[in-house]
Amino acid sequence: YIELMDISKSYNKQSNVLNGIDLNIEKGEFFVLVGPSGSGKSTLLRMIAGLEEISGGTLKINEKIVNHLPPKDRNLSMVFQNYALYPHLTVEQNILFGLNARKIDKQVQKKRLEETAKLMGLSDLLKRKPRELSGGQRQRVALARAVVSEAPLCLMDEPLSNLDAKLRANMRIEIRRLQKQLGLTMIYVTHDQVEAMTMGDRIMVLNDGVIQQVGEPITLYNKPSNLFVASFIGSPK
Ligand code: ATP
Ligand code: MG
Repeated sequence: YIELMDISKSYNKQSNVLNGIDLNIEKGEFFVLVGPSGSGKSTLLRMIAGLEEISGGTLKINEKIVNHLPPKDRNLSMVFQNYALYPHLTVEQNILFGLNARKIDKQVQKKRLEETAKLMGLSDLLKRKPRELSGGQRQRVALARAVVSEAPLCLMDEPLSNLDAKLRANMRIEIRRLQKQLGLTMIYVTHDQVEAMTMGDRIMVLNDGVIQQVGEPITLYNKPSNLFVASFIGSPK
């Protein structure tokens, strides 16, 4: 479904931050990307989203080469680490922002809003502003904005890093449930080994812009292909 062939990236003609990335992600898969700070996780996600130019190689989504396709034509949604909600807009307006920008019919918007708000437990909060919400509620608004787009591919960059441990544990389950229920293909970036091990169908470990290993959590745990993977997956955070 998503194919990366020999993908590389350098910023401003400096040395590569990603090198020779070869990867296939299946439809409906929950794919987790882990690696230390600066290893290139966000860069890779942003290239798939179309927010960052690809320096070398080929990116295919749905069998189509999309290297130069603008983000809005890629049929995907993205959730960022800081949620990026608009502070001056209500929850409802925040959720519908993308649909509005795409000039989706108002009746359709209303229907999708109702369904999504119900699904995410936000029905009673639609008229509030982000500052009037708890961290977890804000996080759900950010997720709702991704869900309401009905895009089959969802990219998340450390979406839970600002939450406390208990909320994080709940949100892990919620995201996983949502992904299954909607049949989303998910690419999920995290620093957190527990998150990677419990959520991922497969995990990819990145270091210095190079893939160290790709596999099921149990395989990485039992048969790490090198010392880096062993220490990264094995050692608790
Ligand atoms: P973190 O876990 O800290 O979020 P990351 O794995 O997401 O790290 P990236 O943000 O992809 O890492 O950064 C990879 C490398 O690219 C880093 O060395 C970073 O300094 C560099 N980099 C990222 N964005 C830019 C940019 N816009 N211009 C120049 N260099 C950049
Ligand atoms: Mg990052």
